[in-house]
Amino acid sequence: MKKLRFLAPLLVFASGLAFAQPAEKVDLNVVHRIKDEALGRNSKVMDHMFYLTDVNGPRLNNSKGYRAAGEWTVKRLKEYGLSNVHLEKWGPFGKGWNLEMYSGHMIEPMYQPIIAMPVAWTAGTNGVVTGNPMLVTPQTQAELDGFKGKLAGKIVLISPKRDLAMSTTPLGVRYTEAELQEIQSAQIQIPGLFGRGGRGGPGAPGGGRGGAAAGGLSPMAIQNFLKEEKPALVIQVSTGGDGGTLRGGGAQNRDVTDNLPTLVMAAEHYNRIVRLVEHEIPVKLQFEIKVSFDDTEPFNVIAEIPGNGKKDELVMVGGHFDSWHYGTGATDNAAGSAIAMEVMRTLKSLNLNMDRTVRMALWGGEEEGLLGSRAYVKEHFADPTTMKVTSEHEKVAGYWNIDNGTGKIRGIYLQGNDMCRPIFEKWLEPFHDLGAATITSRNTGGTDHQAFDGIGLPGFQFVQDTMDYETRTHHTNMDVYDRIQATDMMQMSAIEASMVYLTAVRPEKLPRKPLPPPQPAGRGGRGGGGGAPTAGRGGN
Ligand SMILES: [Zn+2]
Repeated sequence: MKKLRFLAPLLVFASGLAFAQPAEKVDLNVVHRIKDEALGRNSKVMDHMFYLTDVNGPRLNNSKGYRAAGEWTVKRLKEYGLSNVHLEKWGPFGKGWNLEMYSGHMIEPMYQPIIAMPVAWTAGTNGVVTGNPMLVTPQTQAELDGFKGKLAGKIVLISPKRDLAMSTTPLGVRYTEAELQEIQSAQIQIPGLFGRGGRGGPGAPGGGRGGAAAGGLSPMAIQNFLKEEKPALVIQVSTGGDGGTLRGGGAQNRDVTDNLPTLVMAAEHYNRIVRLVEHEIPVKLQFEIKVSFDDTEPFNVIAEIPGNGKKDELVMVGGHFDSWHYGTGATDNAAGSAIAMEVMRTLKSLNLNMDRTVRMALWGGEEEGLLGSRAYVKEHFADPTTMKVTSEHEKVAGYWNIDNGTGKIRGIYLQGNDMCRPIFEKWLEPFHDLGAATITSRNTGGTDHQAFDGIGLPGFQFVQDTMDYETRTHHTNMDVYDRIQATDMMQMSAIEASMVYLTAVRPEKLPRKPLPPPQPAGRGGRGGGGGAPTAGRGGN
């Protein structure tokens, strides 16, 4: 008995040892070399940005810019000596659409050039359209019927004026320590309560007219009525932004070439016209839109660094390559694409010994519903509607995604995968002095890591400083190279390259959550399976 009393503490200690997680190893020499390469004069991340935006942007999925950017990216990745560099087709998607020309003018009562943009997949105007605009903002079916037979060949304004309150908060912001603390605290979510994760609401594409009209007239009812009436041009107000910044409205049917010619206009210019019309002062407007359509197939951009000891196992890194066409798609998401390319250049140029193969994927069709990444995971890993996995599924060690603008990394969203917390805490230690130390169990939604998370693969997105993503650049005509912060881009390149390297050499693959149940087709839109809500700010 005395002997047992003596042994008891020893037994407890031994069992503690048995269950304790072995300390996560981080080769600081390699991390140092990665920092040196990505934070120093060899950095190419801003060069990538220039070619993806100023030279080849925007990159609306399946458009001329998208294809030109794809060809340039393949050429550059081959120059870096990467393997298996190719464009991997997916579909169906619908037609490619290209904006060839837009012009807009107020002729009377005074001349003014008009800031507006054609909505994606809109038809052209078949020449110059000149006319007096009509305000068509019915609240009830009866009011709508009142316009019957009166709109053919007309220029119609379909939104009410938008109040522009003076902004008293800075456009660009970074997270405060208090805000990061708040993000760090777990959130208890009732599955399905929030439905669509990520973004939604009026700023999102498709919401141009905002929700249903007060009298319950749905945007669809108005659209169908307009299709019958055949106005020459439909104009809606920009739902976000001011000072000439306009945020894109709803994309149209991608399978046809005869959508109603539709513009989204900067609020200041739209409001002036509506005020004049309301005061019955004659207004004369003139517009022309030229577009072209392509019967091409979209693609994802793929490249690899083959592994050594475990070359059949995979670490993936990426972000979406496509963008909207209002600006040059700089913060959304040339940033994430340029960084993924920089991760591959950095790891390749350092010639690091990595057990697992590193595969980069730049996705198409994200803005239309994560289409490229979903097509890819279904093809390679598992069909989410049956959750039947392929042999490749168990080979994936993890996936890293960037798609939250140009702001530097402040931490990692665990997507509810708490098993990764102690691992990532260790992995981020070398970057605390660069501002990255926050690990939160929260989910973040609205982008391509969800295609992986949705089939039970560890897919992660980073907590990033918000900057002027929601206030200026997100899906706007001001999403351009000038809004990109170079040192933030370099910090992100260094951190993501390190996360990928550490995932490629870790003895075990990253821990996984249980395989989710099959998801009915069409579920898991941007919100991903199970209605994962979005944490933090910004969307994608
Ligand atoms: Zn995005």
